[in-house]
Amino acid sequence: MAQQQKTKPAPWMTQGPAGAEKARKLNEERKKQAENQKPFRWFMKADLDGKALPLIFLDSAGVWIREHAYQDERGYWNKFRTCTVEYADCPDCANGDRSYYVCFRTVIDPTPYTIQSGDRKGETVSYNKRLHAVKMMAAPRWDAFIRDHGNGDLTLAVVEITRMNEKEGSSGLPSKIRGRITREQLAKKMPKGEKSVEEWLKPYDYVSIFQPDEVVDAKPGNTVGSADAKFDDTPPDGLQDLDELFSD
Ligand SMILES: [Zn+2]
Repeated sequence: MAQQQKTKPAPWMTQGPAGAEKARKLNEERKKQAENQKPFRWFMKADLDGKALPLIFLDSAGVWIREHAYQDERGYWNKFRTCTVEYADCPDCANGDRSYYVCFRTVIDPTPYTIQSGDRKGETVSYNKRLHAVKMMAAPRWDAFIRDHGNGDLTLAVVEITRMNEKEGSSGLPSKIRGRITREQLAKKMPKGEKSVEEWLKPYDYVSIFQPDEVVDAKPGNTVGSADAKFDDTPPDGLQDLDELFSD
């Protein structure tokens, strides 16, 4: 039997199983990093006694995807995977899990939020950029609102959102437009930690957020995988005074 020839790897090369192990670790790190960069989804509680919460919209048309929702370790419906059933095999659908159609827009949430984990834990930040999701059932209400009250475009509109009961989705429903804000006014509110005003006021890159990342189907070009986003741990519980928002 021929003996396997041993080659001495160069410093920049890893041989055999050690290399595979390194690849596995790097993939894990990459996944973790991507996870940390996922935007928060905005949501509101149903028990605010009809009080409204303001949101400033950075885009209006929205993008639609089909997704699956799953509970996290704490029981919150906080894990999401893009459903590919409309163009490829979807492993989640194959498991019998149902998916739904949902519309995403990018918003700035003026209400102060206390950071829950990481280096900045305990710090309170206002004007956070968030993902706003409207499920299929609520979409006609939003469409009608944008048409009748928003002149067909919500961009830079300050919208008061209400949620009267649990049946109304956690993204709430639009109740009125408080006014429009300029990019210059909004720029003054940019939270620290954001790179630039241009970047902050740009709607999310939806393709990279929702892109399925794991190939499961033999058909070329078809991919599927996780598209997790996160919810805040503590939703806001009151309406703040917005007058200062419109001041120069
Ligand atoms: Zn699916």
